[in-house]
Amino acid sequence: MTLSKRMFINGQWKEGKTSYKLKSPYSGEVVAEIPFSTKEDVLEAVQSAKEAQRKMKALTALERSNILEKAARLFEKQFEECALILTKENAKPLKAARGEVLRTIETYKFAAEEAKKLTGETIPMDAAKGGKGKFGFTKREPLGVIGAITPFNFPFNLVAHKLGPAFAAGNTVVLKPASQTPLSAIKTAEIFEMAGLPAGALQVVIGRGGEIGDVLVTHSDIKLITFTGSVEVGLDIKAKSGLKKTTLELGSNSAVIIDSIKDIEQVSRRCVEGAFTFSGQVCISVQRIFVRRELYKQVIEIMTRTAMDLKIGDPAEESTDVSAMILEKEAIRAEEWIKEAENAGAEILCGGKRNGSIIEPTIIANAPLHLSINCKEAFAPIVLINPYNDFEEAIRYVNDSPYGLQAGVYTESIEQAFHAIEEIEVGGVIINDIPSFRVDQMPYGGVKDSGTGREGIKYATEEMTELKLAVFNLD
Ligand code: NAP
Repeated sequence: MTLSKRMFINGQWKEGKTSYKLKSPYSGEVVAEIPFSTKEDVLEAVQSAKEAQRKMKALTALERSNILEKAARLFEKQFEECALILTKENAKPLKAARGEVLRTIETYKFAAEEAKKLTGETIPMDAAKGGKGKFGFTKREPLGVIGAITPFNFPFNLVAHKLGPAFAAGNTVVLKPASQTPLSAIKTAEIFEMAGLPAGALQVVIGRGGEIGDVLVTHSDIKLITFTGSVEVGLDIKAKSGLKKTTLELGSNSAVIIDSIKDIEQVSRRCVEGAFTFSGQVCISVQRIFVRRELYKQVIEIMTRTAMDLKIGDPAEESTDVSAMILEKEAIRAEEWIKEAENAGAEILCGGKRNGSIIEPTIIANAPLHLSINCKEAFAPIVLINPYNDFEEAIRYVNDSPYGLQAGVYTESIEQAFHAIEEIEVGGVIINDIPSFRVDQMPYGGVKDSGTGREGIKYATEEMTELKLAVFNLD
């Protein structure tokens, strides 16, 4: 019997007037029957979230922290079930799925801590001529209702990056997960219900972004849209959201420079991990590698050997490294980009083939830099490796991109490391590791087309508050 799920509005589980069959990207099997929220459902969700705002604001910092802490503990208890949800709805291999659930738990724990740290400051009012006899301080207040729109690729942890800071600061949330990954959002709502979150503080509406996403983006009662997803949708949201705040965490074609290293085997293997984990469907996946010419042959030899050892298969199997991409049409697009590179004279060192939604881990060498595979976001298990002669040239290659999320630089020179930090146009420079490195409390976000605003619990919590000033006239 097909599992039938419901949306979550005003603390109630609600059927939809219509529904769709959620299919596994790997097997095509129907995983669940999912309701479509209508525009009216979304409007009801926003209204309920607005009404629940008073209850949320009335909670003490300790109470908000305890709810988040309890949610983290419930995720721990349902750890394996959550990992299996990921294998089903987005074909994330079990090893990577467990890693995501572990991070989700940590994200909620950081949020539980952050709830206790929201502070303002005293303002030295009498530093101004007109400020004598005045005492001023600031406090942080919740914004109100937050609209959260999330992508398919980390459906537990990227939802946690919206809900954790929102609840830490006392906001309520209307969440619209990606249509392909509603099960993780529904499980998250079940967990928060069990954790004692006030009814109405979290709403989960489900449906196609272009249809119900717009309702959230344009609704005047929503004070901030926090969005993670593609540049195209990010631009659309920015154009439609008017004066409301927006946090946009968008795509990238992340690069790594390998200049001087002690352990070439370890670094090359790490690049394989960064390029092919979850079939490269990671916003900071390693897509472009620039290697000092003297090291180039050795790096491509180790990377090719390591990539060919990766096991392709069923995401629910313990040993699987690479599985299906989210949609067959994305795999077809990736295959076309590989062919374009081949036709332009690049060497396909391994992979390059497609089987349905699966693209083999593909390493491309000596690709001309004007190709799609270099200039656009691949979001597929494909990595390019090109040699360079001097460090400045490598920095130029990294910066020659519309994106700027994170970059990795391997160097044994402290001067070069500082120079790279200064010159590379990204939100985060990772020295001696790949750009895919992320822990959940660090500030995270991009420049250029990679977005605006920062996540990482402390930073997102601040974005989800309004600064209020109070002044006492003591004269
Ligand atoms: P997407 O197609 O942009 O979708 C993201 C979310 O937006 C989904 O919930 C989607 O709903 C919704 N949406 C689609 N059209 C919309 C519209 N017109 N108005 C409002 N919402 C709309 O992205 P994706 O394919 O799920 O995720 C991959 C992208 O996310 C990549 O570009 C990746 O780099 C980026 N990403 C960035 C980060 C980061 O932190 N910077 C992290 C992860 C992923 P439907 O599913 O119903 O279409």
